[in-house]
Amino acid sequence: MDIDDAGRALAAECARYTAMGWMRGTSGNLSVVLDRDPLRLAVTVSGRDKGELTASDVVVIDAHGTTTDPVRVPSAEAGLHGRIAAVSGAGAVVHVHAMAPVVAGEYWPGGVHLRDLEMLKGFGRAAHDDTVTIPVVPNSQDMQVLGDAFESHHRPDTPALIVARHGVYVWGDDLHQARHRLECLDWLLRFTVETRGTR
Ligand SMILES: [Zn+2]
Repeated sequence: MDIDDAGRALAAECARYTAMGWMRGTSGNLSVVLDRDPLRLAVTVSGRDKGELTASDVVVIDAHGTTTDPVRVPSAEAGLHGRIAAVSGAGAVVHVHAMAPVVAGEYWPGGVHLRDLEMLKGFGRAAHDDTVTIPVVPNSQDMQVLGDAFESHHRPDTPALIVARHGVYVWGDDLHQARHRLECLDWLLRFTVETRGTR
């Protein structure tokens, strides 16, 4: 994927996410891998209304979240995008400040367990006889700290990370798979929060 295609795809995805209420204010950021070796990603720029991005509101970063772009500023969280893409092999990483993951992380700071729910199939797991644990890590402004926490919990079959009192990261082969996983995970976490104490 070249940078122009990436910019168009990221702007379109951000508009959809904004409509879901997942990118309030200027929060959240999405990225897509441009090259694997060395790793280069296109990530949404910092500080813009994510419902109004254009195809040029992206910046190219390396695996550490740094850029050589003289003008555009990547999201402060770009370093974690690079780390997740490098470790997981994902082609796209999405990060939003959806409410359900944060509430779930508040109830279950040791990890959120999901089981026996049809929507788990949309997350790439079995609907029965399989417990999926979404890791929860403490929030930090230091992407090295967050990256180390992500890596210590990473499992190839669980493409998501809740950052406590902050938001959620989900990744996949491409932007569509990442979005579908996030949509299903949001449903799963909302169900789990709303039915707590009944199981
Ligand atoms: Zn964030």
